[in-house]
Amino acid sequence: MSIQKDGIMVILSSPSGAGKTTLVKLLSKKKNFQISVSHTTREPRHSEVPEQDYYFVNKEKFENLIKNEEFFEYAKVFNHFYGTTRTPVIEKLNKGKNVIFDIDWQGADQIKNKQLNYKLITFFILPPSKEVLFERLSNRDMKDKLIVKERMKEFDRDVLHWINYDYVIINDSLEDCYSRINNLIEAEINNGSKDYDKEYIRKHVDKLTS
Ligand code: 5GP
Repeated sequence: MSIQKDGIMVILSSPSGAGKTTLVKLLSKKKNFQISVSHTTREPRHSEVPEQDYYFVNKEKFENLIKNEEFFEYAKVFNHFYGTTRTPVIEKLNKGKNVIFDIDWQGADQIKNKQLNYKLITFFILPPSKEVLFERLSNRDMKDKLIVKERMKEFDRDVLHWINYDYVIINDSLEDCYSRINNLIEAEINNGSKDYDKEYIRKHVDKLTS
């Protein structure tokens, strides 16, 4: 009789515009990670598919989920609520499936503090420079200059949370970034050696915040 091994949890967080959502999709496709689908009170964007990208709910429904203690974690981000329900995550992990979360630093902190018996690896994705971030945000569907300005300000606050993550990855090219994350996950699972230079990251953060 074989003993079922639990799945692992991988969290990807980043300031808006660092390319995290694409990376999450890539990890799910190439490594067969199950994406945790969050609930949110924000309106769907044109390209988004309900129940695939998010469960779009109103504030009342969200508050009910809070009251019934169904959330694994939840937070207010950019004036909207976002949260991960517990049951689907635990069910997947118990079946040996790996789960990936696209959540912010507040959610990552909450999950980390639970100290569950499932392996957890946390990644914080950063843009190569503020100029590149500005360009990425300006080219999104959020052409509104005010929103871009607001997200740039938010970036200055968000970036400070890098220190609470296991690894910080600079997203200069999607393929490189994916392969660095992949190598670190494999090294973590197999207790292998990790190619990671924290001092280099510290200097990069200093540059981004100066
Ligand atoms: P967006 O509205 O652009 O899809 O997401 C805004 C931010 O909310 C992103 O940083 C995203 O990672 C975060 N987010 C999405 N779902 C959740 C969630 O369930 N919990 C938390 N804490 N943050 C989330």
